[in-house]
Formats: sequence, structure tokens, C-alpha cells
Amino acid sequence: MTDLNIDDILAEYDTSNITIATVCSHSSLQLFHGAKQEGFKTLGIAVGEERRRFYDAFPKAKPDEFLMVDNYQDILDLTSELQEKNAVIIPHGSFVEYLGADKFLSLNLPTFGNRNVLRWESDRNIERKWLESAGLTMPREVKNPKNIESPVIVKYHGAKGGRGFFIAKTYEEFQKRIQPKKPYTIQEFVMGTRYYLHYFYSPIQNNAYKLNKGSLQMLSIDRRDETTIDEVQRLGSIAELEEIGIHPTFVVTGNIPIVLRESLLPKVFKMGEQVVERSLDLFGGIIGSFCLETVVTENLEFKVFEISARIVAGTNPYVNGSPYSDLIEPGLSTGKRIAQEIKYAAKTDQLNEILS
Ligand code: AMP
Repeated sequence: MTDLNIDDILAEYDTSNITIATVCSHSSLQLFHGAKQEGFKTLGIAVGEERRRFYDAFPKAKPDEFLMVDNYQDILDLTSELQEKNAVIIPHGSFVEYLGADKFLSLNLPTFGNRNVLRWESDRNIERKWLESAGLTMPREVKNPKNIESPVIVKYHGAKGGRGFFIAKTYEEFQKRIQPKKPYTIQEFVMGTRYYLHYFYSPIQNNAYKLNKGSLQMLSIDRRDETTIDEVQRLGSIAELEEIGIHPTFVVTGNIPIVLRESLLPKVFKMGEQVVERSLDLFGGIIGSFCLETVVTENLEFKVFEISARIVAGTNPYVNGSPYSDLIEPGLSTGKRIAQEIKYAAKTDQLNEILS
């Protein structure tokens, strides 16, 4: 799926003795726990003793071994060592961020999911082409700030965790806050409730919501706790705070479990289906876990403002299953589901269908 020859590396692997490896951060507790439940050996890549130390407090999620590095870039020099352990990398948001997208693409190790998806999610314009051509509704884009007529959210490109995003209700407000040298996008601010939908797409198993190829599951839903916007009402209105130079931010600090109104579930599956089918046409498919970040309006319409193409930290509340995944298999977490997919693919000689 990438220019690397992952198939050649896999050909040398003892696929009955795979080690599941990831960077110690983000959703690693869940990933190691799920991998151990499925009988895999686990390896955590960590920078600094403090990172490693707290795993002692969670024995069921502590990796069997650690690979200590001075900085994450060192992973690129340690690929032979990892190959000898038949390592399969599970990438998560922090893994890709710490390594950098280019280095992640050149990582010479079998990696869960399709790495080609990075090109389609890392640029907001290309992402919009994918999602809109799949038939999803996204928040309207405002090309010219002079045309701001209703609340908008201004997003700086590449801003991590919503840092620096701001809301403007008029052109004047926009002008006051904008840092014109940084590239940005202006989006309609969608009023409604935020739901972050966690899907799992298997191209090789037909035991869930059937697609043209493979099947789709929806394992859980969360809402992000975002400081300081979510706590603003304790101090006053946003306008009052802005007056005195306090600007609420969208920096994520945690995740809250959510259950959706059941009548909305058919829409959730339809959206997941559309995204996957389109991804198969565009770049060989979004494989494994992904998340649609949405706002549901009072007209019960989903507007999708973002896609994350791998496990999201919003799945962490569900280490022991969710109200949805429990109806598939009691106690099923996304981490465990990923491990099951790798186990099934190894057993049926289809690892090249889910790793890249
Ligand atoms: P993002 O980096 O696109 O995931 O956005 C960060 C946060 O900003 C989200 O988690 C939402 O709380 C909020 N947000 C993003 N886009 C919108 C939108 N169009 N309307 C309302 N809130 C949004």
C-alpha cells in the first residue's frame, strides 16, 4: 500500500509469534491491554524513565517489554531489531505526531491500517474533497472573512489539539483576533451536540454491517472535554471574557462516554459506509479504526468537521467495552478489536490486506 515493501518484510515474519508495538502514550494502555487479552506479546516504545514508570501501576496494560529511545526519531534506526521481534506497529495520533508524517510514511515496519490515508486527512482541503464526494455534510466553508454573517470557527492549519482556534461572529471580531501570517480555514460554527463516532472497518471479515467489501462496526462514541471553552460559563459569557483579553481554547484534556439517540444509528452506519466505500475508490481503503467528528444539529442532521483515520483517544473510556461493543462481544475495546483483526489475518494469511 506504500512504496515500502512491507510484503517482503512480512514474508520473513513468524506470523504465529507477532509482537504488538506502539509508542507509550495516547491509547497505549488500551492497545496493550487488548493485545494481551488476545495472547500477543507487547512492546512499548518510550522516551524517558518517567514514561515507563507509571505502567507499573497498571499490570494488565503494562507491555511485556520496553524499547527505550532518546527521541522518537530513533525508532527509524531500530527497525531491524523490531523486525526480528516480528513487530506490528499500531499507530495512534501521538505516534504519527511524534514521528512526523513523512518519517511515519517511511517507517520500514508493518503498520496496522493503510498509511496512504495520511495524504487525505492531513490537508483540510483534500479531506473535504474526500468527505464531500462521499456524500457527507460538512460545515460550510467561508472563503472570504468579509462574508462572515453568522458565527464561524477559525482553524489554523496544523494546530495541535485545537490550540489557537477562535470563534468570531462578525468580520470585526475576526480582524481583532486573526494572526494573518498563519494559514487558516474559516468554517461555519455548527450549533448542536458534538459526537465523536468510533468505527472499525474490516476488509476481510463479513460478520458486521455489510459493505461491498468486508464489513463495518461502530464500537463506541465519546465527547471530548475541551478546556477552556467547556468551562467558560463558570466565569461569564465568551463576549465578556474576550473583553478582558481571555480567549477560550479547544485543547482536549479528556473524554466522556456518550450514548446516542437510537433512531440516529442508521445515519451513523450510512455515513461510515459512505466514507469507507469512497476511500476504497480513492486510495485503497481506510482500514481498521477511524473516527468521524460530528455535530448533530437540532434538525438531527450530522455535520462532520473532521476525520481521524486511526484509533482515537476517545475510545479510552471503553477498555472494558461500551454500550455498543458489548452487543458484539462483552468487554470488547477498540484495542482488543484491533488485536483480533491481526490475529484473524495472521491465521488466514491475509496480513497484507490490513497492514501497510
Ligand atoms: P478539530 O481540530 O477540527 O477537531 O476541532 C477542534 C474542536 O473545535 C472540536 O473538537 C470541536 O469542539 C470544535 N469544532 C471544530 N469544528 C467545529 C464546527 N464547525 N462547529 C462547531 N465546533 C467545531
